[in-house]
Amino acid sequence: MSNSVEIPEELLPADGRFGSGPSKIRHEQVDALAQEWKKLLGTSHRQQPVRQLVASIRSGLSTLFSLPEGYEVVLGNGGASAFWDIACASLIEKNPAFGVYGSFSRKFAQEAADAPFIDTTYLFESDPGTYRIPDFCPDADTYCWAHNETSTGVAAPIIRVPGSAEQGSLVVIDGTSAAGALPIDICQCDVYYFSLQKAFGSEGGLWFAILSPAAIERAARVESEAKRAGSKRWVPAFLSLSTALANSRKEQTLNTPSISTLTLMNEQLKWMNQHGGLTWTAQRCATSAEHLYHWAEHSTFAQPFVKDAAARSNSVVTIDVDDELNASEIIASLRANGIVDTSGYRKLGRNQLRIGVFPSVDPSDVEKLTDCIDYVAERL
Ligand SMILES: *Cc1c(COP(=O)(O)O)cnc(C)c1O
Repeated sequence: MSNSVEIPEELLPADGRFGSGPSKIRHEQVDALAQEWKKLLGTSHRQQPVRQLVASIRSGLSTLFSLPEGYEVVLGNGGASAFWDIACASLIEKNPAFGVYGSFSRKFAQEAADAPFIDTTYLFESDPGTYRIPDFCPDADTYCWAHNETSTGVAAPIIRVPGSAEQGSLVVIDGTSAAGALPIDICQCDVYYFSLQKAFGSEGGLWFAILSPAAIERAARVESEAKRAGSKRWVPAFLSLSTALANSRKEQTLNTPSISTLTLMNEQLKWMNQHGGLTWTAQRCATSAEHLYHWAEHSTFAQPFVKDAAARSNSVVTIDVDDELNASEIIASLRANGIVDTSGYRKLGRNQLRIGVFPSVDPSDVEKLTDCIDYVAERL
């Protein structure tokens, strides 16, 4: 690389992984895998050792999110994207309402709009860099939005839509890049679903969902109605939330999971809970994010993309770079020095840096990162 800048060793972070997902996996997680491999890897997921691992994760998540009585942790294969289809097949009754303010929140809304047995999909849209929570709709049965819009670095509040509980509606939240990093009161939603390759610093491929009693009841009802003669709805076994719940209660999954991913996840949960749980992780992410926003606000060539400080994410930080500089050249130079995955979301198409500051990222490495960006920018 001819015009990439060489950063002096002493400026570099100890770990250069700042991706927004997949994200940094800590050394201790991989060590745990190396310790446990013979007991777990290559063994049956229907037997005690792996079932104990699943049980440990489910109880670790109950602790992390201080789950109220009756809420349950469910898991399955396919990641958050698969959960969108599960929700369309076995949670949404007829009329969902969506907050749409970026690529991920839009994808779920699109899945619902395309489902032949869903009647009306209400969209409440706002520009990238802002959020929009769906308004109350008299005939809606499910309200959906994303806690953290990973494509733009916007965090939205999680508070029940006024009137929705009285109406018997569910609040279904995409927590994929928020869960484990941003504070949440789980009582404010019925479903909080996520993948493991973001704040939990594990690998992709699994989805987890925290379900309220109302969500469990809804899935049972929707799925039994789908079995009635003349129903337009088809719930494939792979998209059945009730089947996933039944398997989860037995510490299993419908089909074979990645046991190494589960091992990485279990280690991450132990680490989070031992240090003080969600209060600790959220504070750690806030420290990293505040450093970046403060740096950007005082920079001569950059500023935070999200103008409303209250909407800025503490897990995925987006920074606009002035036109005089080319963000992709900064990103390429950082990568040549081992600092990786700092590029903006491709489809957003901005001259932008996007930095994942999940709990695994050390806040002191984030300080090093801004020094490195300054060093490179001065020399381009
Ligand atoms: C990453 C992400 C997804 C998709 O997760 P997969 O595991 O790749 O399916 C969905 N929603 C949000 C908010 C995300 O950040």
